[in-house]
Amino acid sequence: MNKSPALPKNPSPKDHREIGRKLELFFFDDTSPGSAYWLPNGMIIFKELEKFIRETVDNNGYEEIATPIIAKSDLFKKSGHWQFFKENMFNFKVETEDYSIKPMNCPESAIVYSFKTRSYRDLPIRFSEFGRLHRNERSGTLNGMFRVRQLVMDDAHVFCTKEQIQKEITQMLDITLTLYRKLNLPITFGLATRPAKALGDKKTYKQAQDQLSKSLKAHNIDFEILKGEGAFYGPKIHIDFKDSLERTWTMATIQVDFSMPKSLKISYVSEKGEDETPVMIHRAILGSFERFVGIITEHYQGAFPVWLSPIQVVILPIVDKNVKYAQNVERTLKKTQIRASVDLRNETLQAKIRDASLQKIPFLIIVGKKEEKAAKIALRTREGKDLGQMSLDDFQHLVNMEIANKT
Ligand code: ZN
Repeated sequence: MNKSPALPKNPSPKDHREIGRKLELFFFDDTSPGSAYWLPNGMIIFKELEKFIRETVDNNGYEEIATPIIAKSDLFKKSGHWQFFKENMFNFKVETEDYSIKPMNCPESAIVYSFKTRSYRDLPIRFSEFGRLHRNERSGTLNGMFRVRQLVMDDAHVFCTKEQIQKEITQMLDITLTLYRKLNLPITFGLATRPAKALGDKKTYKQAQDQLSKSLKAHNIDFEILKGEGAFYGPKIHIDFKDSLERTWTMATIQVDFSMPKSLKISYVSEKGEDETPVMIHRAILGSFERFVGIITEHYQGAFPVWLSPIQVVILPIVDKNVKYAQNVERTLKKTQIRASVDLRNETLQAKIRDASLQKIPFLIIVGKKEEKAAKIALRTREGKDLGQMSLDDFQHLVNMEIANKT
């Protein structure tokens, strides 16, 4: 069971908002349009993804930081966000000064960089941040998890020399490929090149573009050239995913930036003892948690892989007499971090099986007199497959393998 089965074509796919309410993952409310209310089941998915990203980046030399949600508008004026993005920012006064809620993490990441003098020996510096961002999207443009006012991004900023760009991009591609392969989500790549109205000199832009292209080729990645679609401050790699409904989404982006380090006047001391401007690389792997969870909710139509399923196993005692045994099974599973729950409702077994399938719970354990006597369990999957009797040990092994493989 290493690979998730191909998803069946669904004639009437459901919207993530509907699935979100039905599986009690998240919902939207008039009290805060454009910002999701995360329910306990949804937070399990959120936390699993966060843990997965955190472990991966921590193991790749990233250091986690956290920066303020509100900052003086002046910072965003310096960084250039104000000029291009002011309409999409929440701006307000604190006493006599203008403040903004951060729409992006980049400027404050640069503030953390400039906390102390950096030498060429310190580079590259890789800061990761699960930053909570707010964007003033017009109410007419809000669209469930796909377009929100509040989001959490799995963001990172790498500060390096021009010569280090390729190595850093290569590592970012490694991480991205590993994560999406583990998630079993097929991705494609695009390289967005210099637009007509780019900042800075053509040569530097072109060199960075070549470095990105070399990194992609080094991974034997086929990629599309997105001519002129790069940012004004540097070239980008787009990582796209085609979902089970044949829609293409840009998930991850890797962007080289020559402009912001200059506008924020950050520097490092070079080998010659001179002040040099580092390059900044912005990257997000999942993008925003909200959008990512919205996309995979529709992609899987709520039938999440075992490791992301809020409840992984439901235990159904056939009659009341089996409740104690069912609870023992639950306790044993929970001890090994398997998310299990006993269905104690006063319903027929058939109704409970139907409800567990509607809740898309991956495994259904049924225990009756026979199982209790043999100290075993009877197992069914959410697809309705009967896997017969097995020992609890074997079952734990099976679930843990699926969790470890992220299937
Ligand atoms: Zn950034």
